[in-house]
This record gives sequence, structure tokens and C-alpha cells, in this order.
Amino acid sequence: MRDPAPSVTGPTLEPTVAPPPTWFLYVDLDAYYVSCEIRDRPELAEARVIVGPPPGSGRARGVVLSASYAARATGVHSAMPVAIAARLCPDALWIPPDFSKYERIAGDVRTILARHAVRVVPYGIDEAAVAVDASGAGAAREAALRVQAELRQELRLPASIGVATTRVVAKIASDRAKPGGIVVVPPEDVAGFLAPLPVRAVPGVGPKTDEAFRARGVTTMGELAGRAPSEFARSLGQFGRDLILLARGHPSEAPVEAWEPHSRSSERTFETDLEAWEPIRDAVEALATDLAAALDRENLRYGSVGVAFRWADFTRTQRVRALGGAQEGASALRHGATRLARELWETDGAHGRRPVRTVSVRTERLTPRHQRQRRLDEPGDVAVGGG
Ligand SMILES: [Mg+2]
Repeated sequence: MRDPAPSVTGPTLEPTVAPPPTWFLYVDLDAYYVSCEIRDRPELAEARVIVGPPPGSGRARGVVLSASYAARATGVHSAMPVAIAARLCPDALWIPPDFSKYERIAGDVRTILARHAVRVVPYGIDEAAVAVDASGAGAAREAALRVQAELRQELRLPASIGVATTRVVAKIASDRAKPGGIVVVPPEDVAGFLAPLPVRAVPGVGPKTDEAFRARGVTTMGELAGRAPSEFARSLGQFGRDLILLARGHPSEAPVEAWEPHSRSSERTFETDLEAWEPIRDAVEALATDLAAALDRENLRYGSVGVAFRWADFTRTQRVRALGGAQEGASALRHGATRLARELWETDGAHGRRPVRTVSVRTERLTPRHQRQRRLDEPGDVAVGGG
């Protein structure tokens, strides 16, 4: 589900007094794993530090997880094979990753963000969108300065922060703020801010989508703004339309909503946005299985299944189906969830053109198991219908 997109042409009915926009700080910790390692060793602040399996440690296919900015200056970047990084940067100090440390520090980061937030939406171990109570761009910038200062003073972690009234624009702004800066984009400046940027700067635009635009002579957001949505309708569908609206300064984005309390959900954010079906299916099956086990422990049965994808562009789409009567066990949940996920991936995701960042599986219509009075005509297997 997404917000109704503003009409590009033709009259619009504007309320006399528009509700004040929500301001988001998109907080992205700089070189996070490296920063976690060197914060207690200030002498390494300017050094070429790489977090990853050290070369010669037997991890022949290991990759760089994080590199300091001094190491990046030699051409090293994250996800680069260790052997290549070692050749580019022979004097680097290699530090094996300590994920429990990074998780622990991420908890401290969330504590700081929560002080300033109406709501924190995490997007991974080192990124979060923080909805703040701000009266305007100036107040939002002040909030960003405070968050950045507290992260630096209390945790010795550098952060880049993008500030905007949508998460997607705030995210793009945070990329432009690296390292260590703050970039504020008021809603009236969105189109102008985006115009010189490559389309690839938009989260969710992967190599395939980029290629589709290039094939039609579009490389920048400014060029995209002048194109007709119908031009990309066949290849990109709703995603193409949303991108053009974004380029024109009208980002559409799902509200930050909460799951209903009478439901249970489980979600997973991928380290890299996914463009293939198999790993998505595996994740959905695993989430459904875990969820069914949790419901079993709580003695609950479920009457519907839902699947939501958060796309790499931060929009969110979901589908919910009623199941044929109250169910228990993992099979109905897994079948229903996989089917819905496949539909979402094929239609809204255009078979992988739109990378997937987070998948969540949800169940609703929960009832205590002891109330169960099985009817003779109740289907034993999943019956997916309605919706
Ligand atoms: Mg980061």
C-alpha cells in the first residue's frame, strides 16, 4: 500500500490547511564496522584499516566488510574480494569482524536515536530513519546536529545525516552528506536537489532499472522528470511512475504504520537488496516457519496470512489473504505466505527489476487454540482465497 500519489497534471483538491509534514533524519553511520574498531584506538583514526578476513587466513573467498576512508582512497571498497584489496592496499591493518560488538554498539546507537524520535525505523545495523517532531527545516536541522553530536561525544561514532520530509529523499541526502555531514532538503527543493543526480542515486534503482532508463536516453533525475510515465509503464510499471513523480519533487511513500496489535509478524532485512526470487522464497519460508512455531508456543491459531515487501526505494507493498478457517501448524502459513510473496514479486516487483530490502510475514485473526471446535467440513489443507 502506498500513499495516493499526487496528480502531476490537472486539478488537485488541496485541503485549505495541509497537515504539517513529518521530518525524517536518515542517520547513516560512516564506515560502521571500522568506526566500531577504531573508536577505542584513536591512533588508527587516519590509518588504512580494513575489517574483513585477513588475507592468508584461509578464507579464500572472503570479502572486505568495511574500509576506512584512508583505505578507500587506494580503491578498496566493501564487498571487494580480499585478495584484490590486499593488492591495492598492501600496508592495510586488517581486523577480523566482531559482529557481537557491532550489534551491541548498534543497541547504544538506537538508545540515542530514541531520545530524539517520534519513531525509529531501522534499515540495517548502521542505518535508521528517525521521525522527529520538528516545526520546519530549521528545527529538523537542529535535531540532526544534536543527534550527530551525541553519537560522536557519547559513542565516538561519525554519522552522516540526510534531512527531508520523506525517508527516500532523506536517504539520498544522507548519501550526499558522507562523510560526516548533514544535508537538508526541504520539500519545495526536492526536484532541484535531485535533478543533477544520476538515477542510480535513488535507492531501489539497480543495474537492470538503470539500463532500462539508459536505453531510453535517461541518465539523470532531471532528464527523468521531463519524461512521460507511460513511456516506462511496460518495463517498469508503478515503480517507473513513482520514480518520475519523485524526480518531479513528489515522492510517494508508505506511511510509517504499526502492525495491528492482534497480529504477529516477523521480518528480515537483507544485507544486500535482492533481485532474485529464490533467496526471497527461502526467507519467506523461514519466517513463516518461525512465526508458526511462535504461535504454537502461545497456543494460538491464525486465520489469515500477510506478506509485505519493503522495496529498496522504501515504498512498501503488502498482500493479505484469509485462510479457510483457523489454522495451526506451519504448512498453511508457509504455503500461503510463499504464494503471496510470489505474486508481489511478479507484479509489484516486476520479476526482480525492483530490488527487495525487507520481507515480513504476518498472521492475523488470532484465536486461542482451546476454543477450537473443528468442523467436519473444514478443509484440512490451506485454502487461499478472498483478499
Ligand atoms: Mg553506513
